[in-house]
Amino acid sequence: MDILKQIRKHARECGDRIAVRAGDSAVTYQQLDDYSDRLAAWIQKNYQDEDKTPIVVYGHKSTHMIISFLACVKAGRAYCPVDISVPLSRVQCILEVVKPPVVLAAEELEIPYGHVLGVAELKRITEEESDRISEVCGVKGKDLFYIIFTSGSTGTPKGVGITTDCLNHFLDWSVNLGTEMKKKEGRAFLNQAPFSFDLSVMDLYTSLACGGTLWTMDKSVQMDFAKLMGRLETSGINIWVSTPSFADLCLADLRFSRELLPGLEVFLFCGETLTNNTARKLQQRFPDAAIINTYGPTESTVAMTEVLVTPELAEQQNSLPVGRVKPGSLVEIRREDGSVADNGEQGEIVILGNTVSAGYYHQPELTRNAFFECEKDGISYRGYHTGDLGYMDGGMLYYCGRIDLQIKLHGYRIEIEDIEKNILKLQGVDNAVVVPVSEGGMVKSLTAVISGREERNTFEAAREIKRGLKAFLPDYMVPKKIIFVDRIPMTINGKADRKAVGGLLK
Ligand code: AMP
Repeated sequence: MDILKQIRKHARECGDRIAVRAGDSAVTYQQLDDYSDRLAAWIQKNYQDEDKTPIVVYGHKSTHMIISFLACVKAGRAYCPVDISVPLSRVQCILEVVKPPVVLAAEELEIPYGHVLGVAELKRITEEESDRISEVCGVKGKDLFYIIFTSGSTGTPKGVGITTDCLNHFLDWSVNLGTEMKKKEGRAFLNQAPFSFDLSVMDLYTSLACGGTLWTMDKSVQMDFAKLMGRLETSGINIWVSTPSFADLCLADLRFSRELLPGLEVFLFCGETLTNNTARKLQQRFPDAAIINTYGPTESTVAMTEVLVTPELAEQQNSLPVGRVKPGSLVEIRREDGSVADNGEQGEIVILGNTVSAGYYHQPELTRNAFFECEKDGISYRGYHTGDLGYMDGGMLYYCGRIDLQIKLHGYRIEIEDIEKNILKLQGVDNAVVVPVSEGGMVKSLTAVISGREERNTFEAAREIKRGLKAFLPDYMVPKKIIFVDRIPMTINGKADRKAVGGLLK
């Protein structure tokens, strides 16, 4: 699969078909191809650095975002998507790491940066008759296609670099998930995740590869329950791509059923545990739809295992498997000493294969710690230590949690230490421990336990901490509850005693 050639093919063969629908605006395949060609020509003309430094694309769910992504890669540069939900201080961190020659801003960016191309200019360059690149001469092979930043335990995000080969190999597999590729032609795909999360790669590029229509759902709709069902009803969605948490949220409304979405054929889930309960409810409300659970970290290009969750599987008492490994990849379960575990034995999930990332952008040490090269049966592989715990049973992978302090909250990947390091930046704070609060095996909220502040136990003190944190962290990383203590319990090694802190909350 060559995604850029594939999009051009759709532009030639079904140019009038809607490629992306975002709120009230839409672009056809022909427009998507034309507009991104023009913007690519503009990038090539104005920026000639030999390194082809990646470009940051800032915004939310507009068609300009997707046009900009394609323009960057057609101009031979990776893009780095940054959603409007990212606080400006974090956007600043990303800009300092990437140092893009220009930011393509589909929404107003309220921080000063050398060169920012705003939405009016984006519109003019893409829609006015002007130069365009004559052929797709963009990124290929080992060139980075995109960089997605994810929470880092150091308190600053880290950028996962995904090559063109990785994306194309991923698409070879994802286009056939749930239904064959040709059955996805002309189908409507739900885009729920912001483009700065790699789950969106599953809907955006699978849809464009299959000649589907991406139906993006913006933040304001997702947060307004009354609007949400109304919008879904008119969406005509056939392929649902979301986190299980988002499906759970929709299930809270009894209208969310086959009657609301009669054309729904497949649910594709990734990013967090799909519970038996959620699967069973979906099977009752959508008896004709296939439910596919997939698993993988951003570092291995979205997902690399799949399983069809049948009613029989969902009825089992045990937790659902995350699936069998896709072609071109291997999963090894490793013991602490690095040896490969036996069937059924729990250990760290290590991923090998052709969709493993090139590493963390401009972070050689972090890259060395997590990624490696190896040879198996005469074949060279790139590998990644996921930090996930799991086991294999007859070729089927089961996920059992984490080795470290990374969690998933409502589908978002969060390093607990990322929050703690940012709390320590706030005035008067001596120490902080963040405790994930779970229910039914899923993290439902976060509580921060903080020492050092003089004024405590007041609503205002907690509010001040939250307000302060919002300057550094996206809303979903800000703990819901703040508890002030005299001192954080410590272990004999002088580290915060997380178990004892957890005990304080009971
Ligand atoms: P992200 O990089 O945001 O996609 O997060 C990757 C992490 O999410 C993985 O390392 C797992 O810890 C978790 N994850 C991904 N898919 C699943 C799944 N199907 N079931 C349980 N956890 C998952």
